[in-house]
Amino acid sequence: MQTYKILIKGVVQGVGFRPFVYQTATKYTLFGEVSNNSQGVEITLNADKDILELFLSELKQKAPALSQIDSIKVEEVEDRAFSDFKIVETKESSTKSALLPPDISICEECERELFDENSRRYLYPFITCTNCGVRYSIIEKLPYDRENTSMKFFKMCKKCEEEYHNPLDRRYHAQPIGCWECGPTLELRVQSEELRVSGVEAIDRAVELLREGTILAIKGVGGFHLVCDATNADAVKKLRERKRRPSKPFAVMVQDIRVARELAYVGELEEKLLSSKERPIVVCKSKNSSKIASDLIAPNISKIGLFLPYTPLHLLILKKLNRPIVATSANISDEPICTNIESLKCLKDVYDGILNHNREIVNGCDDSVITVVKDRIITLRRARGYTPLSIKLPFSLDKHTLAMGANQKSTVAIAFENEAILSPHIGDLNSVASIEYYQKSIKTLLRIYDFKPAVIAHDLHPGYESTNIAKEFKHSIIIDPARQETASKFDPYPEFKSKVQFIHLKNHT
Ligand SMILES: [Zn+2]
Ligand SMILES: [Zn+2]
Repeated sequence: MQTYKILIKGVVQGVGFRPFVYQTATKYTLFGEVSNNSQGVEITLNADKDILELFLSELKQKAPALSQIDSIKVEEVEDRAFSDFKIVETKESSTKSALLPPDISICEECERELFDENSRRYLYPFITCTNCGVRYSIIEKLPYDRENTSMKFFKMCKKCEEEYHNPLDRRYHAQPIGCWECGPTLELRVQSEELRVSGVEAIDRAVELLREGTILAIKGVGGFHLVCDATNADAVKKLRERKRRPSKPFAVMVQDIRVARELAYVGELEEKLLSSKERPIVVCKSKNSSKIASDLIAPNISKIGLFLPYTPLHLLILKKLNRPIVATSANISDEPICTNIESLKCLKDVYDGILNHNREIVNGCDDSVITVVKDRIITLRRARGYTPLSIKLPFSLDKHTLAMGANQKSTVAIAFENEAILSPHIGDLNSVASIEYYQKSIKTLLRIYDFKPAVIAHDLHPGYESTNIAKEFKHSIIIDPARQETASKFDPYPEFKSKVQFIHLKNHT
């Protein structure tokens, strides 16, 4: 019997991968240990070569639903005897390249528990498990452990702690785990009525207010939505007037796929996207249904953006209201989404009340927008559900690269090896708030991945904010003039050379 060290890279943290390794190892009576590190999951175990092959092939074939294995590296190491199989604490390593899973919708099991009167999380608006819920929006840095997320402020109750530490539980190391007793809480505030309620009452009252035509700011996963009853023309009109948005279409969140089909032509692919774990807004051909205020929601166009509830909170609201809602990002036009009460103040004349919760949004993230054209999926806005999954490059980079994006509909990216990790959609860089958010997005990517760029790629347009920030960034890190000259040698996209500048930075790889 030999000792092997196995490093698995890809989306393997925060997705139930270690308990899966634990269960698989136990099945083959293998002894050793498994841990997260900053690159992925590391396993050390004693095995004969043939059993090791079986074990590895099962890891590949039966990996958890949300995981994505990019590579498995196996090496024989110095003998070490184990007497059982253990999940051990996270090991730090110098390079952070583990891929973080995005925020995804509530899973079927959690949805069942949410409406099960016998469950201790009955109607709990933040129910979650290893297979669902928030990830990217709550993380401060890698590795993905509770103390590196905004869940660190909630001390687990005894029952949650037991689940969290039990490798056979669905909530083993589910970082956002919580319950009525210990987790995040809801609060509804309505200025005019001096109303302040929490818990189930907050949802009940919010639903009543929506029914009466009130506009609410509701905190979701990556920011606030401005919400009103989509069947109430007066409410939609009021939202348009107050938001000073005369005609740009609003997205509509519907109770279920059946309602989506009543409002739009939902093909096979559209249905798949609507009910996917990413739950993007899907722009479909509208049926101009009289069931909602279509003329006000998407004036003069034949399309409508629909999406399904993706959090327990949205589910609770829609189930109770039993009507579609307009749910548009709370922002000033083309500016980033508001993520906290402070930034929401700029919209105080738009909403009548706030349904807020106390789980901090560390990284803002808008809803993704997708459409289908001739059976092809076209991503119009890549954000929640997809960020920060990496895009595989058809080549490998030898230098860590920060790409600054464009000035309109901007997105930034970091790239290493053959991975490019994009920030969520940021918006147009035409206002102070957008530029601040843009800079914050860069800092967020650099912080989460502890990323030190060796190259900055930016547009050559001298008037672009992205160009100015790239140049400022360059001055904040020492430039090596000798390496600047070699810029032409590094250029994965020679055809873009006339439009893109590559700045090479010193002392970083
Ligand atoms: Zn779940
Ligand atoms: Zn608890």
